[in-house]
Amino acid sequence: MPLLRDFVFWLSKKKTFTRPIARTGMRLGFARRFVAGETLEDGLRVARELNARGLQANMNKLGEFVTARSEAEDTCQNYRRILRELAEKNITGGISIKPTQLGLTFAPDLCRELTLRIVEEAAALNNFVEIDMEDSSTTEATVSLFEAVRRQHSNVGLAIQAYLYRSRTDLERLQPLQPKIRLVKGAYREPRSVAFPKKKQVDENYRALLHFLFSNGFRVAVATHDEKMLEEAKRIVRERQVAPDRWEFQMILGVRRDRQEALVQEGYKMRVYIPFGGEWLPYFMRRLAERPANLAFVVKSLLLGG
Ligand SMILES: Cc1cc2nc3c(=O)[nH]c(=O)nc-3n(C[C@H](O)[C@H](O)[C@H](O)COP(=O)(O)OP(=O)(O)OC[C@H]3O[C@@H](n4cnc5c(N)ncnc54)[C@H](O)[C@@H]3O)c2cc1C
Repeated sequence: MPLLRDFVFWLSKKKTFTRPIARTGMRLGFARRFVAGETLEDGLRVARELNARGLQANMNKLGEFVTARSEAEDTCQNYRRILRELAEKNITGGISIKPTQLGLTFAPDLCRELTLRIVEEAAALNNFVEIDMEDSSTTEATVSLFEAVRRQHSNVGLAIQAYLYRSRTDLERLQPLQPKIRLVKGAYREPRSVAFPKKKQVDENYRALLHFLFSNGFRVAVATHDEKMLEEAKRIVRERQVAPDRWEFQMILGVRRDRQEALVQEGYKMRVYIPFGGEWLPYFMRRLAERPANLAFVVKSLLLGG
């Protein structure tokens, strides 16, 4: 499986493969499995539909690794608008932002200022902002950004990746802030110098970090589709009698849709990550890499309809 995953990451750098996907993904519909659509209206429509079925939303306007201040500032404006739209339309859900979309890689001070602006807008609207974790070249800067913002505002949380060796230390560092942490396995292609190379090791670390989070006063978002981890979380919560407002499940739009609804039926809180926007290709390729079987439906669509 790691070989196939590497192959998909390799393909995702090949324009001959990605160009037809980018051109036809929305028109032929296969990109819509994981991406709500290209506009904010698409994202809000999906959020409303999920709300109607008892699921909460986490809106993500796609885009990453911007290189101009103006793009970072536009991202900030966009997120503030999304927050206002959520409030006006009575949609239950928050937002999730990517630091490299706010200039982290070339202007960390600007990124902090823009993140603060977004978090302050969210606070005024009684809403919450989660910060995604991107590839390992950005981890230290993202944790530092989060610390700075979280010291000033409580309505901000952070994603932490179980595949990184450093994550346990990062959680110990963040523990005094008692923040909300979204625990994920990790979606990028990372060298073995920074990340566990084997899935089994990642799963073991996910389990260990889950225990660490629930035992040390964090608010926890259990963000996984892995049945074993879902069961582990349920067991910990039952045994430790964790209050419902201290934790939730999170999944991604288009992955294990039936399971998302079943968990809501069982009485659990479920938040769905809803990406939308024109810059959907890198996100879409990561979803393919997670489950190379997904490649089949893309290739089939391209052959039949492209
Ligand atoms: C809400 C949420 C937010 C996330 N935020 C981040 C982030 O900020 N940074 C980051 O690096 N990663 C993020 N991720 C992605 C995460 O790191 C994993 O890559 C992804 O969730 C797959 O891991 P898994 O825990 O589902 O377990 P896996 O063991 O990979 O998968 C378990 C099962 O889930 C199903 N499944 C998983 N992925 C797919 C897929 N793409 N298509 C179809 N079925 C699938 C399969 O049935 C699979 O057997 C996020 C994930 C979620 C759920």
